[in-house]
Amino acid sequence: MHTIEQLDDGRAVYLNGKRINVAEVPIFRKTLALNNQYYDLQRTHSAVHTYQENGKNYDIAFKVPRTVDDLRQKHQAYQEIAQSNSGMLGRTPDFLNTGMAVLAERADFLGHNQYADFADNARNYAKWVKANDIFISHALQNPQLNRQRAINAIPSGYAGVHTVERNQDGIFVSGAKMVNTMAPIADDLLIFNPPELLLEPGDTSYAVAFATPLNNPGVKIICRKLLDHPGYTTADYPLSNLLDEIDAYIIFDHAFIPWSKVFVDNNVEMSNRFFIDSGMFIHTSHQDEVRGITKLELATSLAIRVAHVLGLDGFLGVQEKLGRLTANLELIKGTITRSEDQGHLDQFGIYTPSLQALQAVRSTLPSYYDQALRVTQHLAAGSMVGTPGYAEFDGDNATILKQALTTDRATATERTRLLNLAFDLTSAGFGQRQLMYEYYHGGNPMRIRSQHYQHADLTAGNHMLDSLLAEHVD
Ligand SMILES: Cc1cc2nc3c(=O)[nH]c(=O)nc-3n(C[C@H](O)[C@H](O)[C@H](O)COP(=O)(O)OP(=O)(O)OC[C@H]3O[C@@H](n4cnc5c(N)ncnc54)[C@H](O)[C@@H]3O)c2cc1C
Repeated sequence: MHTIEQLDDGRAVYLNGKRINVAEVPIFRKTLALNNQYYDLQRTHSAVHTYQENGKNYDIAFKVPRTVDDLRQKHQAYQEIAQSNSGMLGRTPDFLNTGMAVLAERADFLGHNQYADFADNARNYAKWVKANDIFISHALQNPQLNRQRAINAIPSGYAGVHTVERNQDGIFVSGAKMVNTMAPIADDLLIFNPPELLLEPGDTSYAVAFATPLNNPGVKIICRKLLDHPGYTTADYPLSNLLDEIDAYIIFDHAFIPWSKVFVDNNVEMSNRFFIDSGMFIHTSHQDEVRGITKLELATSLAIRVAHVLGLDGFLGVQEKLGRLTANLELIKGTITRSEDQGHLDQFGIYTPSLQALQAVRSTLPSYYDQALRVTQHLAAGSMVGTPGYAEFDGDNATILKQALTTDRATATERTRLLNLAFDLTSAGFGQRQLMYEYYHGGNPMRIRSQHYQHADLTAGNHMLDSLLAEHVD
């Protein structure tokens, strides 16, 4: 665990056109404090959040799951971590750490070249992350410069990250990655290519996977605009003034990566296989979807609370809308449980959740989340946008506002706080970024659905069809 001051380590972070020290940005400080709940829970709820290996305690995310109970324990830990930030931090350390657990076991396929044993590098990296409980962020997605062209056909040099030089000590890389969530406040950065937009044979120099500290002198972290509202308190913006899971565009400028941190070098096939064959994709998906439920539960509860406080919950039409949301939540919870119950032992003896069940959640949760936000907006719209700033309750109009806005269901200030939360989650920039996150962070839902149908096991359905379509003599 690091403090925000320790992040003044030479990393080149840019915000609003200036190079900054992240410790001087209040919302980064608050976000890191929430992120560090991951470490605090290892102390305060060690029975769930830690396990022992060779006499040492590690976070449960690092445990290689061997049974369904291992996955269930991890589920509980992911859920508690997510609850500590209301499901709003997608990339807490447990996300990639659960990937590290399986990378170490499955790394053999990475092979070697004349300078390095990539399989050993991956194993050593995973061991180092585990021993030091490093907070890794990752960037796989290449910039959307022209998706209809191969990376090597885009001349700018920033269509991905590519090797520009190599020697016996390591490689030098240049280029860019499109989005890296949490990069300004993480320790380390893992770079690889996405499995859904495969590299082509001519993309060889872009076919890399490696890790680097974020203070590598060749790395620039360029933050998007902040989403908080200085001058207002968390009574007005309960989420946007509490945290910002900052996203950044990452530039590499002749950055040196020693061979020991390289996992794929100039190898299109390995680059395309890296995320899936390492096991990282499916195990990080499990963490990811458990966190997703937590956020969906918050959004569902918010809609119901708004309906109650505004005196709308007695109407059948409103109850029907809320019932859709609670049913959606139940379906998602059930499908995550199914992913665990229907898991299997892979060839390395790792208990692996069902990909079809997890992909069903991935493809559906974004629209369920969107639905929960829309219901809240539709129930609260007028009240939500007409809510006075919280400071009014200390101003000239305090007495009249308290009288005017107090109901049999909530005091004026309770009602205002609730409606401010509803606005923040459904309508403010913060909430819109969270919605985008749900939609896209796990990959393009279009591709997820396409893959889902291609892998569906419809043996029983096809059997019925065949029997109905067989030629019968009546
Ligand atoms: C809030 C947020 C945080 C993120 N954090 C990270 C992170 O930390 N690390 C990281 O690596 N990535 C991150 N991402 C990026 C994420 O992985 C990608 O946005 C996501 O995988 C979608 O890929 P894309 O943006 O390249 O979209 P594309 O795949 O380019 O698709 C964009 C749209 O273009 C159309 N399209 C594209 N290709 C085709 C095609 N072949 N056929 C038909 N239509 C097509 C589709 O309509 C699609 O909706 C983040 C994204 C968001 C929104």
